[in-house]
Amino acid sequence: MHFNAYGGNGAALSAALVNATDFRPRPLARLIAAHEMLRTDLTAEQAGQVRAWAAQLAPVFGERDTAKQVELVNGLLEISASRPYVSTHDGLRPHLHFCSPEADIVARVRDTTAGGLAMVVCFSDGRRLGRCEREGCEVVFVDTSRNGRRRFCSLTCANRVNVAAHRARAVARRSPIG
Ligand SMILES: [Zn+2]
Ligand SMILES: [Zn+2]
Repeated sequence: MHFNAYGGNGAALSAALVNATDFRPRPLARLIAAHEMLRTDLTAEQAGQVRAWAAQLAPVFGERDTAKQVELVNGLLEISASRPYVSTHDGLRPHLHFCSPEADIVARVRDTTAGGLAMVVCFSDGRRLGRCEREGCEVVFVDTSRNGRRRFCSLTCANRVNVAAHRARAVARRSPIG
């Protein structure tokens, strides 16, 4: 649960959950563990709760209206009822944790993701919570690039859009209108 201006693992976990397609307990536990969370074993019921939570995280990504995005994040924080505290574990410099280590996995996922998204919105720029601009692609991401202008989820999507734009320009050149 290490936060930085880009929301640290909380924001990254949010994006991973929104993009997730497999919400069976085991793969889901692995996905959560890959984001620096401990004790991630889930029951089927808990996995269902995380899936429902992921659906609530989704609209925050790609929301260009700041007021609307803030409202969404506040809605998440209200549900998560997180208890932030500063930790210096493992010799790290002081950093925020958003969830109680004793809480169950669903509560910890809610707290960590809501806290991470709030960090991005407050300390960076909510536009860094992006959604791929290629039509038909719904993949979300946390833009940690230096200039914060990432538009696509992957090089594949960027290339497909660029190739299409290039072709459109070439066609326009060959058949001038008027
Ligand atoms: Zn930590
Ligand atoms: Zn994409």
